[in-house]
This record gives sequence, C-alpha cells and structure tokens, in this order.
Amino acid sequence: MMFNLNAKIRDLKPYEPVVGHYSIRLDANESFCQPTKELLAKIKDAAANVAFNRYPDPYAKELCSCFADYYGVDESTVTAGNGSDELISVILSAFVMKGDTIMTLSPDFSMYRFYGHLNEVKCLEYQKNSDFSVDLDKLISSVRERNVRLLIFSNPCNPTGLGLTREEVRKLVGSVHALVVLDEAYMDFWDQSLIREAANFDNLILLRTCSKMFGMAALRLGFAVANPALTSAVRAVKSPYNVNACSQKIGSVVLREKDWIASGLAEIKASQKELFSMLRTLENQYPQQLRVFDSVTNFTLVRFAESGRIFEELMKTRTVVRCLGDFLRITAGTHEENMQVIRQIESVL
Ligand SMILES: *Cc1c(COP(=O)(O)O)cnc(C)c1O
Repeated sequence: MMFNLNAKIRDLKPYEPVVGHYSIRLDANESFCQPTKELLAKIKDAAANVAFNRYPDPYAKELCSCFADYYGVDESTVTAGNGSDELISVILSAFVMKGDTIMTLSPDFSMYRFYGHLNEVKCLEYQKNSDFSVDLDKLISSVRERNVRLLIFSNPCNPTGLGLTREEVRKLVGSVHALVVLDEAYMDFWDQSLIREAANFDNLILLRTCSKMFGMAALRLGFAVANPALTSAVRAVKSPYNVNACSQKIGSVVLREKDWIASGLAEIKASQKELFSMLRTLENQYPQQLRVFDSVTNFTLVRFAESGRIFEELMKTRTVVRCLGDFLRITAGTHEENMQVIRQIESVL
C-alpha cells in the first residue's frame, strides 16, 4: 500500500550538519576547551558508576541542583532537557494550540520556526532593523496587536551576536500577555541575564544550554528556568526519561568544576576578542569587501561582498564556518585556528 506523507512534513529535509574531516571547525559556536586530565578522570569515574540497567531520574534532580547552584537560582524552578533544543520543541508543542499565533524575530535561531511549523501554529516574524537592532516599543505593540500567544527569541541573538539589555527584556516581558521564551544560549558570554529573576515573572520561560560556554555539546544538556507553575507544566509535558543517566552524571560533575569553567570562559572571551579585532583590521583594509558586526557572544557575524566564494575557498582548506546568505558567522577558536581563518580570508580578499 502507498503511504503519503502529510503536507507539513512532505518537503522537509533531514538536518544536515557539516560532516567530513575539517581541520578547523568554527561553524557551530562550540567551545574549543577540553577537560583537564583531572576532570576527565572524574568524568570516567562518574560514567563507570551509572546504573546502566535502570531508567534515569526523570527529573534529573542532582543535575538540576548543580545547575541551580552554579547560577544561584532555586532548583524548584529548573527543568533539564535533552539539549535546549528538546525544550524548545516541547514548549512549542505544549504551550500553544494548533492554529495559535507565535512570534519570533528575524533574523534569529531557525529552530523556532521549524518547531512552530511542525506544531501547526501560525509563526509571525518581527523584522529587525537593517543593523539588526530591535525597536522594542514596536516589537511590544506588534506582540499585543497580533494577539501573539508565545514569543520566542534568543538573547544574545544567534546569528547576529547582538543583545537586548536586561532592562529592555524586563520591559518586554512585563508589557505583553504572551508567554515569552527567552533563549539565553549565549548569555554566559555577556552580563545581561534575567536568570536570577526569571521565576518572578508570570509569563517567562528562560532557556540555557551546556553546549556553548560549558563545552559539553556532546552531552545534550539544556535547562528551562521559570516560576513553579510553568516549571510544573514543562515537567508534565516533557518525555519522562528525556535526559540520559550518563549525561546527568557527567553534567553534575562538570557543573561543580567552577574554576575549570571560569578559566574556559576567560579563554573563550580572550579568543573572541582576538578574532574580532583581527576581523576589524581586515574590515579597515578592505572596506568594500566586508562589514563586521559587534558581538557580545563567542562568534562574529560578518557581511561579505562575496560570502559564497569565501566560504567555498575556506572549505577547500578544510576550514568550516557558517554561511548565511551574504554573511559568514565565525566562532572564536584557538589562537592557531583564529590566525588560520584570518590568513585564509585575507588571501581570498
Ligand atoms: C546552540 C543554540 C542552542 C543550543 O541548543 P542545545 O540543544 O542545547 O545544544 C539553543 N539556542 C540557540 C540560539 C543556539 O544557538
């Protein structure tokens, strides 16, 4: 018998990350830091002590408590997810009804639209200004006028690298009836987080991830922080054993390593500063060829007159960055990686 895929998934293609052997990977905003020998030993120990025959703790209590301790929030306001990606998917499937209107910003993280589409909601996009700034009052009135049930955006923003201040986000959340899903995946690199006050809002779910600053993308750990009522709803709709026992154990070990985390953060910040200033130097040398956007994150967005050509040439030298239309998004890497990518771009220019 013939089976026809439904209209909403018929034209979807599986997500295709860059595969193959690239010597320099600056495309996914990951950390370049590795665990120390001592930390690796603790990780191995933790993995060896997992009860492999048992289902994991459905609420990942130890892990959530380590996360809560790291950020100074109450653990009753924290839910763990299989990456924040899972939490985005769960929230967009459960907190809105089919046919409801949601809003995201443009440009912003593409997964919001994708999960909105799968859940058959109407997804509006608030268009940012050409310099990627956001007119806050316009955004607020747009959310109110269009009867938006859920607003989701990243702050700081992937891919622009820019952010709204804490004061601006407070105003936004306080001015709308919509549920605001605030994705702070890159807030570890900036100082405008709302995490300590997230549970004071009626209509805010804040998301964090261990995939960026913490250097644990492989573990798939994300967190939602919200008031107890929203937290209870997130816990009720997620799948019971969403975070595997290895990730729970290893995540708990790593989140306790405050010194290691702090030194990694300092290294990434220094690297970002270095890469950014080298890009600025290129911009001054070739003002017709590129424009560099400010960034409060671990990556830099650059508009190139010939982004496609530069992207292709980088690929030939086994260096991969993210190509987004006229833009390349370049993650801060090690000193050597930064030097290499700059040298390669310069030689194409
Ligand atoms: C990388 C990223 C995430 C992280 O997703 P995980 O599933 O936790 O790895 C979430 N939001 C944005 C905007 C990101 O760039």
